[in-house]
Amino acid sequence: MNLHWRAPQFHFPSRTGVAALAAALWWLAASVATAQEGAMLGYTAQDAGAERNLEERFDAQMRASDLRNWMKELSSEPNQVGSPHDAKNARTIERMFSSWGWDTHIETFYVLYPTPKQESLELVAPKRFKATLHEPPVRGDSTSALSGALPPYNVYGADGDVTGELVYVNFGMNDDYKALARRGVDVRGKIVIARYGGGWRGLKPKLAYEHGAIGCIIYSDPHEDGYSPGDVYPQGGWRPSEGVQRGSVEDMTLYAGDPLTPGIGATKNAKRLSIADAKTVLKIPVLPISYADAQPLLAALGGRIAPVSWRGSLPLTYHLGPGPARVHLLVRSDWSLKPIYDVIATLRGSARPDEWVIRGNHHDGWVFGAWDPIAGADAELEEAKAIGQLAKSGWRPKRTLIYASWDGEEPGLLGSTEWAEEHAEELERKTVLYVNTDDNGRGFLRIGGSHSLQRLVNQVAAGVDDPETHASVESRLRARLEVQAFDPAAGSEAQRVGKLAASGADLPLQALGSGSDYTPFLQHLGIASINFGFTGEEEQEGVYHSRYDSFDHYVRFGDPDFVYGIAMAKVGGHLALRVADSDVLPLEFGEFADTVDRYRQELHRLADSQRERAESLARLLDQRAFALASDPRHPLGPPAEEAPGPYLEFAPLDNAVARLKISAHRYDAALASALSSGNLPTGEPLRMLNDLLTGMERTLTDPRGLPGRSWFVHLIYAPGALTGYGAKTLPGVREAIEGRRWDQANDYLMRTAHALDACRERIDRAAALLSR
Ligand SMILES: [Zn+2]
Repeated sequence: MNLHWRAPQFHFPSRTGVAALAAALWWLAASVATAQEGAMLGYTAQDAGAERNLEERFDAQMRASDLRNWMKELSSEPNQVGSPHDAKNARTIERMFSSWGWDTHIETFYVLYPTPKQESLELVAPKRFKATLHEPPVRGDSTSALSGALPPYNVYGADGDVTGELVYVNFGMNDDYKALARRGVDVRGKIVIARYGGGWRGLKPKLAYEHGAIGCIIYSDPHEDGYSPGDVYPQGGWRPSEGVQRGSVEDMTLYAGDPLTPGIGATKNAKRLSIADAKTVLKIPVLPISYADAQPLLAALGGRIAPVSWRGSLPLTYHLGPGPARVHLLVRSDWSLKPIYDVIATLRGSARPDEWVIRGNHHDGWVFGAWDPIAGADAELEEAKAIGQLAKSGWRPKRTLIYASWDGEEPGLLGSTEWAEEHAEELERKTVLYVNTDDNGRGFLRIGGSHSLQRLVNQVAAGVDDPETHASVESRLRARLEVQAFDPAAGSEAQRVGKLAASGADLPLQALGSGSDYTPFLQHLGIASINFGFTGEEEQEGVYHSRYDSFDHYVRFGDPDFVYGIAMAKVGGHLALRVADSDVLPLEFGEFADTVDRYRQELHRLADSQRERAESLARLLDQRAFALASDPRHPLGPPAEEAPGPYLEFAPLDNAVARLKISAHRYDAALASALSSGNLPTGEPLRMLNDLLTGMERTLTDPRGLPGRSWFVHLIYAPGALTGYGAKTLPGVREAIEGRRWDQANDYLMRTAHALDACRERIDRAAALLSR
């Protein structure tokens, strides 16, 4: 999974209209940092020099030929969960880590992983057509003819044998169902067909079920994913007409991991739910299909013409239905437990072995998985090799490094989640950072994570060169943000970010939603996390989760020389090493506090606009304006009435954020001055300082979790309940406002304020240790 969602890429903390004191302190801290050319966060000047030297020795070990050879081997056969090659890859990776001197073992879990036994999809009226559900071999793609792959399917859809009228529901998101209702289209008892895009795939069948549909078909429209964006494979890299996007439809907005063991490790004898009680398993059958298979179904639809923005790029007129197209959909699966194999490699820290830096990437794919996940797994292995060579020369990290290669990410972050749940108590206590990668391509650094890491990330990115332009990956990204803002069509967000990029301030981290293995660490355990990759100049989408995600595709359309794989290894390795060896953990809180302040301001605007819209809607309904503005021959019904919302109790959050900003910038200034003067605490106070920093992210959690999904405990970052991979920030409050649940919004305004207060108190204690 991973980079396949299109959230806005770059966010920047707003510094307008907020406490002048905090702003002044920020500029003070920033100018201290820039004044010392080459300052390294978390290090005294002397230790920074040694660390730079270590990173140079690390970089000198990098070999692009390793990445090419490993990808060829690891993606040579289908490697989905339960396949022989998946188990073999785990053993291969275990041997590699061991040979480089890491203390390595495989940890096995037993998870519910349904695999298809029988699938069929037929158009039965007004004429007959049987979908092929098959991805044929492609010329020049040597693995595309191999056997051993599962047929295209959506894991965790229900078994079912259903026949019904077809309805086209666009992306199948909530707004699409509202638009259908205004056109008099009801999906109860129907089978819906949705195109990929617009939100996470798992929401499509879930929302279809909630609206009464009995089955769901998901297809890749060439508008998003096929001949419209580019030439199709093998001529170009884009999805050919018979390519299918597989993928999980587990309801991961509730909890990630094995559906039968929420909150605990799926060990052999774990207490399991029955499948019927597993809330993340869907209730209706789902099937993903290609646009070659979708075209006859869509062409057979009648009813009203689809709204303009719903029309894809197939050569037909898009109708909504229902009918006269009727389809028969059948899915039957083998619901047995399957083993998954996490490879865990440890290099024990010399000075602070009970502080852990964890680095992870998954090794399972949907078929061959060259892009997703081997491109990222390759980079992680290259880091482990180079770190192993440093260790052989006598060096040891101060803190413990754990390199993990997860299994079962594709079906639902299974390997990472089960491991995180099994070791939760120890991980919460000891882990200082989790660094995740997944797929990788050419282009720009795309990076998200906890905002206390923003300064560190900027410093690391400034120290790694873009392999094709030889500028740093940081300056390349900065230039891009400025150029995007210069475009006359740039939106207000792009302009704001561009302006800040031009000012020389740190580049923003994205907020993390979900879609890869950081979720159990960040959002379930409250561990500061980073997720990154290179993207933007490749043609990945075309083969995402299909049989054509292969070595042959990757070396033509991905990263042919594996140089961005090396850049990924440098960024990942530098992050891990820099945190593992730091004197003081390299966290800052000013940019975090400013970012939270921006989120807080967004919530104010959201609440205001919700209230204003409800008032306008009431007025328009009173005036019967919707009826008057509608074509009497093709009427569009009015939207459902919404009661105007109350004014919310924002004061606790407003005050908590204002206090946090002052404390955060004060800490950053104290840290900068302690590092530049070399006047760091030592001994017990230093240990206490690092302990306070280790537990900082966890202050942002609430053990009761988010409304209706207690597995997600982080109050700043969550995957959206109605967006899936897309992030929701201050999610307890934001989603309550969006859903017009006003009491819940007030409740979470209070809880979020409490968490930020706890964070602020801890920051104050850390600052006191620095200025003693
Ligand atoms: Zn992946």
